[in-house]
Amino acid sequence: MSPLIAVIKPHRSCVNVPEHWRYPFLPTASAILEDVNLESLLEDYFYAEARALAINRLETSATRGAIEIEGPPTNDENDIVLGYVISRLVLAATDNQALINYVALSEAIRAETHLTSETDEDLVEFVNNLGVVRVELNGSSFDMNFVDYVRAASKLREGDWKLSNRGVSKGIVTLDRKTLIRLMREVIRQHLEELPKAPVEIKDKFGGTIEDLKSQVSKTFTERIGGLNSVVDERQAEAMKELGRFDLSKAPPCFNLNLMDLQAGVNLAHPSRFFITTFLSSLNQDPEAVMRLFATAPDFKEAFTRYQVEHISGKTSGTQYSSPKCDTLVSSGVCPGPNALCRQIRHPLSYYRVMAESEKKPQARMERILLAALNKEIYPDKLIEKNLARIGDFDFEYNESKERKLSEAIRTDDISKINAKISHFQGRVYSTDVPNEDRKIWITKATVSVTDSNVDYDCLPLTDWKVALPIEEAHYKSKKIDLIVKPFDIDLDEGETRKLLLILDTVKES
Ligand code: SF4
Repeated sequence: MSPLIAVIKPHRSCVNVPEHWRYPFLPTASAILEDVNLESLLEDYFYAEARALAINRLETSATRGAIEIEGPPTNDENDIVLGYVISRLVLAATDNQALINYVALSEAIRAETHLTSETDEDLVEFVNNLGVVRVELNGSSFDMNFVDYVRAASKLREGDWKLSNRGVSKGIVTLDRKTLIRLMREVIRQHLEELPKAPVEIKDKFGGTIEDLKSQVSKTFTERIGGLNSVVDERQAEAMKELGRFDLSKAPPCFNLNLMDLQAGVNLAHPSRFFITTFLSSLNQDPEAVMRLFATAPDFKEAFTRYQVEHISGKTSGTQYSSPKCDTLVSSGVCPGPNALCRQIRHPLSYYRVMAESEKKPQARMERILLAALNKEIYPDKLIEKNLARIGDFDFEYNESKERKLSEAIRTDDISKINAKISHFQGRVYSTDVPNEDRKIWITKATVSVTDSNVDYDCLPLTDWKVALPIEEAHYKSKKIDLIVKPFDIDLDEGETRKLLLILDTVKES
């Protein structure tokens, strides 16, 4: 049996279990898996309904931040639980913590909705079955050991959630029903954010099936979380209207994911709030608009939030706090995990600045691409001049692109649309000295090669990471990608001229 399945073996001691279609993540729910063979689960027609429910689970999580799966009699309880298990397999195989976190939040919100309709006794049964914390019914309240409480509320440190504001008696914290249910959303979310790594055998043996399942959610996921450079979630867009010239498509994963949580009604921990506030203040956003972003937080208190935001942004304190760097955000749990660009930078503001590359004037963009391609320690002015003169006033704009094979695209002077695999992708930060100016030019670049499976073709380095990120994702997934390209003859040195492809854009799947 696969270790992935083994980790969710049932707890034999549990009796009186709640309905598993509502809470398929309970250890007791995995009893349904007892006689299920993993290969059949992923491939047999018999489990087609469960696989469809798994896709539905992931799709609605990624698109709407919600899971809307009806229970019996519309759907069979076993199918729902098995669908949940398949969704975990797919999630584990995606190896993407951001997606895992986002789905965990959707699962937790779904469970919270169901918990509100449980009796007090069943609520206790649920909490204790889950096995992360324990509670006891005490009249119409619920008693929890303070150690469990502190662990469960560790990311809810604001205001009332602090242990000092709860009152502890003989090591016990007493919670009302509403507070316990809200706390359990947090417990479930954190619990589901941890997935075992998909064993290599599963990826190898069931790669095709998992890829099929993944591909059905990948489009929406890429738009919402993976790409971060295309579609802006409507809820975010509404809040972001307040934020003047701030461009969400340039923001790093840490900002987007925390903002998404905020919009989903999650009580963000203090480090996340501090980061959002300082990040936006550093980009000259009005404290008033920043404050309104927090209005969706469940514990929003206008006066308190205003004080905090105005203090952090320097409006009342006179000191503008700077946004924390990546190391700090990683250690405080704010960073959801880096993407390819994150690995080249050390500060989220650098991410925002690098993503603005395409806003530079065309001549400056081309100069930086050439510098990245020439890769010289000292600014190669003659080579740059010669190449720029040959390229002329190319402005990176294109209206039409003819579909061509890669081998044809490299031979024409026109702009082509090609479908190719990425054979090489590597990010790097490069700098060149500018003589007589006592300064360096810094460029965050990605070296890329594309292939038609027969021949590899080198491309001009990518400096526009809005284009580079989906290319890196295609490379990581070994998937083909549609690219808009144009070849240029580039003098790489005196007497060395090569034809290199400039990747202008990626074409999103329609
Ligand atoms: S690595 Fe840095 S920029 Fe990227 S998500 Fe983490 S904290 Fe944000």
